[in-house]
Amino acid sequence: MVIDQLLPGLFRFEDTCNVYVFECGDCSVAVDYGSGAWRSALRGLGLPPLRHVYLTHHHVDQCDGLRRGGRRSFTVHAPPGERNVIHPDGVRAVRRWIGKLGVPGSYSLLERGLAGVRFDMIGFDDHFVGTRRVRFVETPGHGRGATSLVIDHHGKQVVFCGDAAHAGATVHEPYMLEWDHWTGDGAVAAWRGVERIEALGIDLLCPSHGPVIAERPGTMLRRLSRKLLEFIDVKGNICPGEPDRYVEPQFTSSGARRLGDHLYQFGINGYLLVSGSGSGSGAALVIDPYLSDMPRLDALLAELDGVRVTDVTATHYHIDHIDAAPVLQRRKGVTLHLHPRVAEPVARLGTHDVPWLPPRAIRPDAMLPSRGTWKWNEHRLRVAPFAGQTWWHCCLMTDVDGRRVLFGGDNFQPNSRWNGTGGFCAMNGCRFREGFIRSARLVLDWKPDLLACGHGTYYRFAPSHFRKIIRWAERAERATKALCPTGSLERDYYLHPRSA
Ligand SMILES: [Zn+2]
Ligand SMILES: [Zn+2]
Repeated sequence: MVIDQLLPGLFRFEDTCNVYVFECGDCSVAVDYGSGAWRSALRGLGLPPLRHVYLTHHHVDQCDGLRRGGRRSFTVHAPPGERNVIHPDGVRAVRRWIGKLGVPGSYSLLERGLAGVRFDMIGFDDHFVGTRRVRFVETPGHGRGATSLVIDHHGKQVVFCGDAAHAGATVHEPYMLEWDHWTGDGAVAAWRGVERIEALGIDLLCPSHGPVIAERPGTMLRRLSRKLLEFIDVKGNICPGEPDRYVEPQFTSSGARRLGDHLYQFGINGYLLVSGSGSGSGAALVIDPYLSDMPRLDALLAELDGVRVTDVTATHYHIDHIDAAPVLQRRKGVTLHLHPRVAEPVARLGTHDVPWLPPRAIRPDAMLPSRGTWKWNEHRLRVAPFAGQTWWHCCLMTDVDGRRVLFGGDNFQPNSRWNGTGGFCAMNGCRFREGFIRSARLVLDWKPDLLACGHGTYYRFAPSHFRKIIRWAERAERATKALCPTGSLERDYYLHPRSA
């Protein structure tokens, strides 16, 4: 194990995270715990017994060694804001929600939580260890309650910042700042935290990963603060200045939106495409079946004389676009067709640690081509992968009532809806170049008349809209990359490998 002496009586141990130990009168104090393997080295370094462990945040690399049973000869302290992800009851509750509410996966979450922790590291307050004042400053990001420690040691002001900052004005595992899949809230909180410690006048900045920063830490934090602002900015609008270009529908008596003689939008996410000619006349294809939309679908079918659902598909794997597929599959004569990408995370659950999965596996009856044409009654639907909000996404385009309609799911929305996108986040498997940029180019290339997207948004295509999205995605890629310690999105940010 690498051990550095940073100052007399202050050491850095390279464990699963950096563990810092400082001598404080007749005891030693540790910042974070890692695996605990470092403890055997304390006596050899002439350090007094360990009495306090302060956890900067809840991640497994910071404290997993503490889950071992037995009485501790030291007190473990943690920030109160991390209680629900450290205390066993909290961890149990969070684990129940993973995947359901878009809780971003189980990355770095403790398996069972830790008992016997004092949640007494109150932000902007302090503890005395002997006569030494240990101060706490809130630096959220890696955990909503993540907290830095400030001490005076041998005439220097030392700050232990957890994962709030990493050398090179970067952030260890920057995807941890994505508290949800579409806003910049986590990044905003992280930026505020960095601003707080940047102002402190630091002699030695001790992060949880990577090297200690002794050379002008304030300058480095100012650079990081600027990079975080850029990241927050790209988490905002993706096509500034573009109008919404909504198309006005007609309402049917059940409240569905009629977009033409053969196309309806019902409930939150569903589309119904009705075949209008030949032997398929009256057959209908449901796109993006959501369980809570099913009463709306049935009400619409009751209005449309002689129309019956024969086929179903989904633009992506998210629960609100697919969970009613098995319900429709059970109806007589209904076939579920899925794009290979969309089928990948849902055909067998447990293979992908991603948010918004349906609760039960969904098995298609037939596969769509990954890229090509799907002949459905009189329609020849163009099909292609359409990564953006998530990697496991496809689009379909066909002529309906004289207009080219592209069914596009959640990637691209009118501006007033969610900043123009269902968002980007690493846990969803978002990618910039092979995702948003490629998909925006596809729209420019296919030139639909109408985009029929998720959450009931249908709007006219304009090239300027998608050209702006490409420029935004290039900027978003740069901003995210700038936060990566190795400078590589593949190594530090993208959580999921590209599949076919
Ligand atoms: Zn962390
Ligand atoms: Zn979605």
